[in-house]
Amino acid sequence: MSFYDLSYEQDKFIHYAKENTRSFFEHHDHIPSSPGQVALAKELVRELKDMGLDAYYNDKTAFTIGKLAKNTTDEVTPIGFFAHVDTADFNAENIKPQVHPNYDGGKVYLDKDEAIVLDPAEFPDLLNLKGQTLITSDGHTLLGVDDKAGIVGALSMLRYLVEHPEVKHGDVYVAFGPDEEIGCGGKYFDPHDFPGVQFAYTLDNGRPGDFSYDTFNASESTIHIKGTVVHPGEAYGLMVNATTLMNEFLSALPQNEVPEKSRNHEGFFLVIDTTGTVDHADISMIIRDFEWDKFIAKENLIKKIVHKLNEKYGSDRFTVKIRRQYENIYNGLKDKPYIVNLALDAYRKCGLTPHVQSFRGGTDGNFITPKGIPTPNLFNGGGNYHGRYEYVTVEQIDKLAEVLTMIITEHLRQSREGRDERPLEKYW
Ligand SMILES: [Zn+2]
Repeated sequence: MSFYDLSYEQDKFIHYAKENTRSFFEHHDHIPSSPGQVALAKELVRELKDMGLDAYYNDKTAFTIGKLAKNTTDEVTPIGFFAHVDTADFNAENIKPQVHPNYDGGKVYLDKDEAIVLDPAEFPDLLNLKGQTLITSDGHTLLGVDDKAGIVGALSMLRYLVEHPEVKHGDVYVAFGPDEEIGCGGKYFDPHDFPGVQFAYTLDNGRPGDFSYDTFNASESTIHIKGTVVHPGEAYGLMVNATTLMNEFLSALPQNEVPEKSRNHEGFFLVIDTTGTVDHADISMIIRDFEWDKFIAKENLIKKIVHKLNEKYGSDRFTVKIRRQYENIYNGLKDKPYIVNLALDAYRKCGLTPHVQSFRGGTDGNFITPKGIPTPNLFNGGGNYHGRYEYVTVEQIDKLAEVLTMIITEHLRQSREGRDERPLEKYW
């Protein structure tokens, strides 16, 4: 039993998947970073208008905005959903989606000649998709499930509501944005495009039932080190070798708090790049942590090490610059349990077991939340994102549409009967 119309969902997904909307970090000073994204964004405006919605393309931010007006006189706040039009840094030219109806749970030969195989032995999640309509690439490009499955899930939800006026709801906004994969899109989102929206959800990766409201806090730092060059033959007591100072800094960092030794809810320091001569050296690094206090302590540790080394070698040897990249969604959400509970209640009503997890990265929600719209992440259904083995099933997209509709109707019901404000449980 499907929720909406599987053939609409399949056709739309395949149609959008074929469009090359890859984003490019090297063009990140242009919004959006690639012309394919504009083409899809404008096509989505037409799709929304065809359904009878108010829709427009904001050419300052490259977001497509759609609004389904409320059909009830009840007091209910508007609700928003985000998906992104761009795809990850992987070949997106000439994408040829392959449809495998009634998937049998076996190996899928994406390209027989080149022996590119999607194998459940390697990706056991596939075994849960037996009997569904599986969609893959031909093994030479990504598929773009991330995040075209999110877009189609949102569109099906809207079409369902348009076709079922007896289902009552408040104002529903959708935003289809650019350049999520290069960490830019959400930065430019203009909250004036979501008037009155007090919370929203991204539909970006994850299996049905996955839910994240807890992401990294993130900053990047650069450390510049000045040496003193003297002829090596006359250097005794005079030369200060910047690379030696650099090594001293690096060995003062906590050696166990690195990505390869951290998981779940642990943060880390990551040295990304070092360059050095006797004269000067530079370190570029990032800091990540879920918990605000620990995150700040990590930033402070960098400053402390620099301070100590400056005391030892002279005050201007080390200079440090720390730039905040994004903050944990949880920071803007921790006192607003309703936003989380609403989604999890809707999951359960749709027969999904919620799987709440810390997301070891950032999402558009990290940029949208500080604008006053707390935005945790739901899911888009697929798997193996960002590469040739990406897949999704039409049924997963349909499940997303069902969940979104349930969130909207639950929101109205709880606005009438009382919100689920139970405090958030620490799940980690
Ligand atoms: Zn994504």
